[in-house]
Amino acid sequence: MAQLKRILVTGGAGFLGSHLCDRLVEQGHDVICLDNFFTSQKSNVLHLLDNPNFELIRHDVTHPLWLEVDEIYNLACPASPVHYQYNPIKTMKVSVMGAINMLGMAKRCRAKILQASTSEIYGDPTVHPQPESYRGNVNPIGPRACYDEGKRAAETLCFDYHRSNGVNVRVVRIFNTYGPRMHPYDGRVVSNFIVQALNNEDITIYGDGSQTRAFCYVDDLIEGFIRMMNNSTPGSDQDGAFIGPVNLGNPGEFTIKQLAELVIELTGASSKLVHLPLPADDPTQRRPDITLAKERLGWEPTVALRAGLAKTIDYFKSVDLSHFRRPTDHTAHKSSDAM
Ligand code: NAD
Ligand code: UDP
Repeated sequence: MAQLKRILVTGGAGFLGSHLCDRLVEQGHDVICLDNFFTSQKSNVLHLLDNPNFELIRHDVTHPLWLEVDEIYNLACPASPVHYQYNPIKTMKVSVMGAINMLGMAKRCRAKILQASTSEIYGDPTVHPQPESYRGNVNPIGPRACYDEGKRAAETLCFDYHRSNGVNVRVVRIFNTYGPRMHPYDGRVVSNFIVQALNNEDITIYGDGSQTRAFCYVDDLIEGFIRMMNNSTPGSDQDGAFIGPVNLGNPGEFTIKQLAELVIELTGASSKLVHLPLPADDPTQRRPDITLAKERLGWEPTVALRAGLAKTIDYFKSVDLSHFRRPTDHTAHKSSDAM
């Protein structure tokens, strides 16, 4: 049987965090879920609250805290463009100060730490698909920079804590992931299109819909997280493991228009496609090169977009949308010409 550990999941009540907590509790670990509920709600982890192996702490990662843990998954950060542009200065603080606080804890406890990085560190990529060796094309002063540069700085901190203090780090670069427990009003394309289709409202395509994304189902991604945290593939760390960065995502690439058509087909909606202005700095293409994840972790996604969307649609049909807060107007919905 695997060794049981005390594991901290920051952002643990969020979309990805709550699925990760489920998996870790299922494996018998002692799980501490930390969240300030900025972009999530307790309902994502309600089913875990009675479990003796699960503990929930309301805390903001930009403030230090003192815990004793064996492993940390650092996920706390607003993730959708609508959420991370809501208070961009806070987004940068969460990425940088949150990483410093969690890396400091990892150093003190000699804990292993996995940092949730992102495909956004590649910006609007000029290399396609994106391998980990690509250094990216980020606009450092644009509306997405608070997140892109914040996450880049967090990667830098991970590697500096590793080199300077021997902290046992793991860095995963997550590409667009979707599934049950996404916030219905987070403004991300999958949640937007499904909620719009279920209400037979217009499907809002930003730009001409020719921009591409590659969509990974949440269960596949969580498997990738756990393999990365536990890997003992020969690599550069003191325990001989592979520390990354590694891309985690589904290499199946779709245009946003194709996604809209698929959602309409699967929901049977009578929605029309409407075009709105493309937000500033919206990447035109994105697809992970997952060669490294395959080689080092033996990982690749198993859930096709059609199957994953069907499960996600069932989830959105089952929730009462009046229990979720609606987003605030902000830059992500403004025309790039107006920026
Ligand atoms: P999410 O918004 O559902 O989850 C983020 C969680 O962090 C929320 O529960 C939120 O309340 C919490 N949080 C935000 N600020 C915090 C703070 N200051 N202190 C404590 N908690 C805070 O988004 P998600 O999709 O689950 O993303 C989780 C992580 O994965 C994020 O770091 C995100 O950048 C990264 N990521 C996600 C995707 C994706 O497609 N889902 C892609 C790339 C990277
Ligand atoms: N998008 C869209 N309509 C929406 C929401 C998003 O056309 O209602 C587009 C957005 O402009 C981007 C893509 O879908 O090109 C993915 O957007 P999302 O916010 O999900 O994440 P991103 O990959 O841009 O971080």
